Amino acid sequence: MLAGPGGRENVVVRDARIVDPLENVDALLDVRIDNGVIAQIGERLDTNEHRVVEAAGQTLVPAFVDPHVHLRTPGREDEATIASGTAAAAAGGYCAILAMPNTEPVVDDPETLRGLRTRAETEAHVPVGFFAAITKGQAGDELAELGSLADAGAVGFTDDGRPVAAAGLMRRALQYNAITGRTIAVHCEEQSLTRGGHAHAGDVATELGIGGWPSLGESLMVARDVDLAGDTGQSVHLMHLSARESVDHLRRGREAGYCVTGEVSPHHLCLTHEAIRTLDPNFKMNPPLRAEDDRAALIVGLRDGTISAVATDHAPHSREEKDVPFESAPFGVVGLETAFPALYTYLVEPGLLTLETVLERMSAGPAVIFGLERPRIAVGATANLTLLDLAGSWRVRADRLRSRSQNSWLLGERPKGRVSMTIAAGRVAFE
Ligand SMILES: [Zn+2]
Ligand SMILES: [Zn+2]
Repeated sequence: MLAGPGGRENVVVRDARIVDPLENVDALLDVRIDNGVIAQIGERLDTNEHRVVEAAGQTLVPAFVDPHVHLRTPGREDEATIASGTAAAAAGGYCAILAMPNTEPVVDDPETLRGLRTRAETEAHVPVGFFAAITKGQAGDELAELGSLADAGAVGFTDDGRPVAAAGLMRRALQYNAITGRTIAVHCEEQSLTRGGHAHAGDVATELGIGGWPSLGESLMVARDVDLAGDTGQSVHLMHLSARESVDHLRRGREAGYCVTGEVSPHHLCLTHEAIRTLDPNFKMNPPLRAEDDRAALIVGLRDGTISAVATDHAPHSREEKDVPFESAPFGVVGLETAFPALYTYLVEPGLLTLETVLERMSAGPAVIFGLERPRIAVGATANLTLLDLAGSWRVRADRLRSRSQNSWLLGERPKGRVSMTIAAGRVAFE
């Protein structure tokens, strides 16, 4: 289901601390990669004339998987391309990303989808899976041809950017999608409640006189889609959860045994609506940053596994688009290059989440939801590895980001936890 570059390398990573929570590994060892596959893990391995990466003091982990990226291609290549988006992904430690279909045109026919997959084989720095739309043109009226889109390689289906407003159509999509075995991912927004909203409907928006986007605008549709997952027996993935009530609905669905999963973004885990007091449009997201009790519920949900994936919702916007007053600016921020440093600095270092939890939710968690090979540090596994300098920090600067758009909420900050190398599908994608 992934399309990406070929080329498999011979590498020995020497003396790294190897951490793979699911393989129960945490030890100082060497890893030898033969032709892109992990061939040996042990002490003082023979290098066999392989390239040697001296990694003492660094941490080698399963590479990350981002299930929610906007590559803006086709249509807005001024904001991002397959090449620039996947270069940003590689720099962020990702070995695979999944791209959203709300492009111009929308990815709702097999031809467009096949064209993107072909381009990814030559242009991408890491493998990419492409979502296709649930409804034609993402207009919410008529189902796309899910069967032929799945045959053409769709990794899943979503109308991200907008909800499937009609419950009956959403139910039919789930029933019909049973033939594809793919997951439907949903952007939960009840637009009759969020229209005119630019920030969380709370005291900060009130003080600033900004239109509110209430938690209910998300959680009402989360409740609906959890119940539709139960009703149809089909899998539903809830994207970019932001509200405490949404986590409660997801937990209820999972306890009832429904096939329902959820993701959360680094910005919703690290920030609250207090950040918008600066009126910097790089803190304007959809759904919006919410209150501290929402953030706390997201962290608890991620910790206890109710939410099984971190997703950046990497949303490039050009400087001209974002360099306007808060209420005129589009929603969304870039996140691929800063996701791990942000989570490490804001959550792991203060003791809110363990390193192991963050690593699992950034890698195996999202891979499992979408039926992808789980990155792991084990003999026989494809080398999908990220080398981290946990003590190292770097200043986030627009001119240093590989993303073609630089609308990051971390500009000017100096987070810890630097990605120093990424090996994706057996090939060195970043160093
Ligand atoms: Zn969305
Ligand atoms: Zn999105």
